[in-house]
Amino acid sequence: MHNDDFLTDPQSLVIHGDLDWDNPETDDTALAPAIYPASTYSARDSAEFAEMANQPRHPRYYARYGNPTQERCERLLARLEGAEAALLMSSGMGAMSTTLFSHVRAGDHIVAQTTHYMGTAKLLTDLLPGMGVEVTLVDQRDPAAFFKATRDTTKLIVLETPSNPTLTLTDLAAIAEFARSRNITTLADNTFASPINQRPRDFGVDLVLHSATKYLGGHSDLIAGVVCGSRAAVEKIWARSIVLGTNVSPFNAFLLLRGLRTLPMRVARQSENALALGRFLEAHPAIERVHYPELESHSQHALAKRQMQHGGGVLSIELKGTPGDASGFQAAKNFVAALKLAKHAVSLGGVETLVVHAASMWEATLTPEQMQRAGIAPSLVRIAAGLENAQDLCTDMEQALRR
Ligand SMILES: *Cc1c(COP(=O)(O)O)cnc(C)c1O
Repeated sequence: MHNDDFLTDPQSLVIHGDLDWDNPETDDTALAPAIYPASTYSARDSAEFAEMANQPRHPRYYARYGNPTQERCERLLARLEGAEAALLMSSGMGAMSTTLFSHVRAGDHIVAQTTHYMGTAKLLTDLLPGMGVEVTLVDQRDPAAFFKATRDTTKLIVLETPSNPTLTLTDLAAIAEFARSRNITTLADNTFASPINQRPRDFGVDLVLHSATKYLGGHSDLIAGVVCGSRAAVEKIWARSIVLGTNVSPFNAFLLLRGLRTLPMRVARQSENALALGRFLEAHPAIERVHYPELESHSQHALAKRQMQHGGGVLSIELKGTPGDASGFQAAKNFVAALKLAKHAVSLGGVETLVVHAASMWEATLTPEQMQRAGIAPSLVRIAAGLENAQDLCTDMEQALRR
């Protein structure tokens, strides 16, 4: 029992949960955490130096190994995900690559989804196979496909839910239960949902990963990533992180902690805005379909209700084609260009609403078949709702659709 186990509400937790209440010596009367820019820390004597050098994750030894600002931020992140420990890293991809490299070597096998964040997909289909790691990709909607794909050499199952860009879901409980029975580690990218809308650990997932650049930071002003899990698992990933050099900067750990103070309030508002936009757009004559887990029209709505609090801040829409533009590609391009409030930019989770037209974004990178497989319809527009007034956002979309 810890001194602050009463901190169960997320909004109270993000205000107070970074302090170590069981160890008053580490407490700080300054209400904002200090930023430690030091690259190295001195020892008072050789016994202390030996302790600094040999204790895993010592926060005052050498800054690639960690620092006190980072440690405070990690304490809060672990508790938000219901985990024992967390490791903050340089970016979401830094966290993903370090976590993958700490679980597999040549000859091992990974089961993952056909749809992942583009950087993760590149690691799974290019970098790791090039190093002798075998990867099988399966349809995330079918838990049995994960079971069937496992082999004796399977070390890791990689999940991402909801996934980009069609907000498709993966059944966390079903896959985690199976993986546990086979001693296979599960890793879930929880970036889109945030710990406010979904806690994969509650469904038995071992490791939870975030691009902290998105909802956790929340202000489009930092790049960071985090992985949460048992103390032993996080220590193992840390041992890889210090040689891969994927450490977070102390300043970004400070910014992230500042962003986290308002996470539950921000995500609640973003989820409300996304749902309001989803309902408005679903009823609009220029819209073919809306992808959003909290809408009854989503094909996995029942699963969304089982594992998510709300649908999150991201939705995607497909515009209707016209006789001269059957696929709606041009209509989507025009729509994005005509928006006044929503900004045309990649990323999500910030205070401002962002939109991207996926097909024009990937036109130079992906073949039409690859796009189809990734669920990118020519007229698909991803909307990451910000904190603006919902009616203002609907008005902006309405005027852009009227053009
Ligand atoms: C952005 C993102 C990443 C990568 O995070 P970076 O911080 O940009 O490295 C990974 N997964 C998902 C789902 C993301 O949205």
